[in-house]
Formats: sequence, structure tokens, C-alpha cells
Amino acid sequence: MAPNGFRQLQLNFSGMGCWLTLAIGFGLVTTVGIGWLLKSLLVLVILLISVPIVLIVGSQFWLRRNLVEGACPACSQPLTGFRPIPMSCPNCGVALQAKDGAFVRVAPEGTIDVNVVNVDAVRTDAGDTDEVTIVDVDVLPPADS
Ligand SMILES: [Zn+2]
Repeated sequence: MAPNGFRQLQLNFSGMGCWLTLAIGFGLVTTVGIGWLLKSLLVLVILLISVPIVLIVGSQFWLRRNLVEGACPACSQPLTGFRPIPMSCPNCGVALQAKDGAFVRVAPEGTIDVNVVNVDAVRTDAGDTDEVTIVDVDVLPPADS
């Protein structure tokens, strides 16, 4: 008899606690006012909507400024990379850097990059011991000048 009565009393108290919480909340809202709550909820909703839009537009602007699409100058592999980050071609391994919307080779100071147009090799056999190979190379100035 006693445990049953105790459980019933406990359930009654929990129901009263719920009603008491509702009454305290209603009293707070009516005395302080609900305007600040609505304003803060409105600010929160505006922030939740505007922050992702600003982030998406900003990231697209940054990508449009810094993403470079082009071909490897050594092997003509199509590449995509970021402007400030030096990279290497995944196909041929040449060190590359994006400059003026295209990829250029990263070369040590003093290296001259030229385009070879025609190579003719003529082997003349003058004798048994002296083999002379004549190679004609046409060299053009760099393409980006
Ligand atoms: Zn390459």
C-alpha cells in the first residue's frame, strides 16, 4: 500500500512541476515583454540566412580570382591549380607556377626557355674511328616575349 501511494504522489508532483514551469514562463513573458524575444529571433534568422550567402559569394569571388586552368607547357596536359601555390605537373613532373592566367615552368635563374622547331641530324661516316654527327638546331626566341 505504501509504495503505490508514494508513486502516485510522485507523479502528481511532476505534473505540478510542469504547470509551475509554464506559469513562471508565462509570467516572465508578460512582465518583461515578448518584443525582445521576437527581435532576437529575427536577428538570428537573418544571420542564419545571410551568413551562408555571404560565404558562398565570397568563396566564388576568391575562386574566380585565384583558380587557373591551362595546359602544361611541357606536355600539354590540361591542368587546374591555384595562382599563389606552386605545383608540379602530375603527368610529367615539371615544376609549374601560374602566371597571367597560364602555367609557366619554374626555372632557375639564368635559364633561357626556347622553342626548338626543327632538328636535323646527319651522320657522316668519315672513317672507322672518327664518327661525326652534325646536328642542326633552329632556336627561336621565347614564345612569351
Ligand atoms: Zn606536364
